[in-house]
Amino acid sequence: MSKAELSRMKQPLVPLATLIGRELRNGKTEKPFVKYGQAGLAKKGEDYFLIKTDCHRVPGDSSTSFSVFAILDGHNGISAAIFAKENIINNVMSAIPQGVSREEWLQALPRALVVAFVKTDMEFQKKGETSGTTATFVIIDGWTVTVASVGDSRCILDTQGGVVSLLTVDHRLEENVEERERVTASGGEVGRLNVFGGNEVGPLRCWPGGLCLSRSIGDTDVGEYIVPIPHVKQVKLSNAGGRLIIASDGIWDTLSSDMAAKSCRGVPAELAAKLVVKEALRSRGLKDDTTCLVVDIIPSDYPVLPMPATPRKKHNVLSSLLFGKKSQNLANKGTNKLSAVGVVEELFEEGSAMLTERLGNNVPSDTNSGIHRCAVCLADQPSGDGLSVNNDHFITPVSKPWEGPFLCTNCQKKKDAMEGKRS
Ligand SMILES: [Zn+2]
Repeated sequence: MSKAELSRMKQPLVPLATLIGRELRNGKTEKPFVKYGQAGLAKKGEDYFLIKTDCHRVPGDSSTSFSVFAILDGHNGISAAIFAKENIINNVMSAIPQGVSREEWLQALPRALVVAFVKTDMEFQKKGETSGTTATFVIIDGWTVTVASVGDSRCILDTQGGVVSLLTVDHRLEENVEERERVTASGGEVGRLNVFGGNEVGPLRCWPGGLCLSRSIGDTDVGEYIVPIPHVKQVKLSNAGGRLIIASDGIWDTLSSDMAAKSCRGVPAELAAKLVVKEALRSRGLKDDTTCLVVDIIPSDYPVLPMPATPRKKHNVLSSLLFGKKSQNLANKGTNKLSAVGVVEELFEEGSAMLTERLGNNVPSDTNSGIHRCAVCLADQPSGDGLSVNNDHFITPVSKPWEGPFLCTNCQKKKDAMEGKRS
């Protein structure tokens, strides 16, 4: 048998339509394929997930499509998780002006995600319900992956170099020193549950409320220093692609990032998600809601993400130093350098809990009309009401009274409350 015959036998026949489609795609765009799987087991029934592969940046234009995957792990009820699932993406879309280019849209995403999380939280709090939720939203547009997250539902990336990296930060009081300091400075009290005559048990919690997380959506009954401001990271994959594993803490309390990645390499996403859940349950059974999404970003219509090459030992050391479980508190910019291993281009990372820092200054505001649009809730207000967030920092020159993002009175109140400044 000739070599050509052999290779023909190995490759499954591809339908003509697929071939033509491939040609067309190669000619126009080089968008990767996105394949996914989901698996999970409920204990309390408070885990929710979102899979949306048909979103359009420009309504009705399929060439502007992008995908959204999210995990929402609710607590004290399910209403916050459902509300966040239903509203965050719409709020992201409305925070980005229409008619911008794809590049501009991608650049605007990190800020829009901050606005959307805060807006969704404020709208939920108006309902007067007390439940809360983690929220980890992943937006995939071409090779660019943007992840915004509050709480402890992680997203990891397994790349062709065999390097596993964490795209989120765990907002857990127990493990996150920076967050503990922030909550304490804003007026919260951090401590363990006291039982049996003063014995302390369980993880560090914030009081009042007793929440173990330092950031969430909802939680109307706990202090406002439990903020909805997400850690955001944006990366661009190489055209070798990669695999995302997004899951609730039911997975991560049992499996390290490396273990989760290794447990499902070389199998299609659909089966991979099941394998990760199985691996997590193997050691300690079903202790918590456990939900897992596996998303493969694949260079062409391969059925499976190719197995990563075995990383050199140096890479292993580096990746465990940079991305291992112990390094999850690195919320600072630049400490979690994916680019250090030359696999993935890091475009953006910011984890500050300060709304002012997250909104930035480069937002055009129409100062001539006398109407100002709030940077968070997008409500219009006549000038004279509300404040430019930059008024905190300097005496605004009279000639530029509204430079920087403008916040309405309500959103300004929310910002102050989150920073522990409520009077
Ligand atoms: Zn507002």
